[in-house]
Amino acid sequence: MVPLAVLLKRELTNEKIERPDILHGQASQSKKGEDFTLLKTECQRILGDGITTFSVFALFDGHNGSAAAIYTKENLLNNVLSAVPSDLSRDEWLAALPRALVAGFVKTDKDFQEKAQSSGTTVTFVIIDGWVVTVASVGDSRCFLESAEGSIYSLSADHRLEANAEERERITASGGEVGRMNIVGGAEIGPLRCWPGGLCLSRSIGDMDIGEFIVPVPYVKQVKMSNAGGRLVIASDGVWDALSPERVLSCCRGLPAEIAAKQIVDEALKGKGLRDDTTCIVTDLLPPEKIHPMPPPKKLGKGKFKGMFRRKSSESSSHSDKEYCEVDLVEEIYEEGSAMLAERLDSQYPLRSMFKLFACAVCQVVIKQGEGISLHAGSSRHGRTRPWDGPFLCKSCQMKKDAMEGKRPSADGASRHRSGSDDALPSAAS
Ligand SMILES: [Zn+2]
Repeated sequence: MVPLAVLLKRELTNEKIERPDILHGQASQSKKGEDFTLLKTECQRILGDGITTFSVFALFDGHNGSAAAIYTKENLLNNVLSAVPSDLSRDEWLAALPRALVAGFVKTDKDFQEKAQSSGTTVTFVIIDGWVVTVASVGDSRCFLESAEGSIYSLSADHRLEANAEERERITASGGEVGRMNIVGGAEIGPLRCWPGGLCLSRSIGDMDIGEFIVPVPYVKQVKMSNAGGRLVIASDGVWDALSPERVLSCCRGLPAEIAAKQIVDEALKGKGLRDDTTCIVTDLLPPEKIHPMPPPKKLGKGKFKGMFRRKSSESSSHSDKEYCEVDLVEEIYEEGSAMLAERLDSQYPLRSMFKLFACAVCQVVIKQGEGISLHAGSSRHGRTRPWDGPFLCKSCQMKKDAMEGKRPSADGASRHRSGSDDALPSAAS
């Protein structure tokens, strides 16, 4: 991995920051009316010495009603932005984004919980600043990127229980049960689901009635594209259940974004017809002043799926990295998917520039001196609690954190297996 600071320095030495031209389109076929999108170009961020812009593209696929999807569409962006300290330089803002996304997702979930409505939603949330693309996702609406050279990259997680053993273990350890639906006669049918509730996702925003181990902590991936550009496709499971990523990107190659999105939805419905809400957003990042459809990739037909980029640090030793020795046109900057808030909000960067010092790291409420609870309170991995270590959570967010980790019973008693853990609630850990 190339450190972000190096990438940005490279960029800065190439005179000013070159920005892609962004063209986008969306298409949708609705069955239940629970898919929602957010398309915002020209979002402004105020710098010390001027204003810069970024774009947001997001998809929310609701279930058990549309309240959570609508609430998230209306509030998530603000919650993410309010978790970013003001006056950051561009490299600080990009480095702070993964953490701000985690805080924003959790705050949105927590605020929605207070409205006491059922329903939940997947979220695939893409922020584009220059050539840096940051994607945060919960659920099974996926985002794939095709670079100009024709390689395909996954930028989102798949949080279906069926597809994710690690998440199944996390949920079981937190007091949920994972299994298939039983029908009369004892036969098990359908995908793996979480009980109580029967949701087949392990992460979402909302779903309070199911249990707090269905967490809103997003998988986050940040990449930097080359200025040759590329195409992003964000789509709900209606598309990915019907088509492979290779098929999705090849069926619309050469078409302008708006027509491409429609083509993908049409293609997805060809086989089995409209069985679910099917929504697609296509976003093209083009070299400036080349406003035309993406040219056919040079390796046309190769359609090679590069699932996971270069592996991280330690594993890079013995793999025959022939494929990775080519100059990658997409560089991975950041990838993290842990469900543990202490890992996601911790900072290796100077705290000063990444957090507002006297605010809760999740909800941003001002914390009075001595009242903040260290993110690491109660964590055994650090050997001993260091209550003076930031970042800090307010009491309410600390309770939310414990609930998500199965350390206190959910409202519906879904975590009852872990009896005796109530006293672990560090309510007095100030
Ligand atoms: Zn808080």
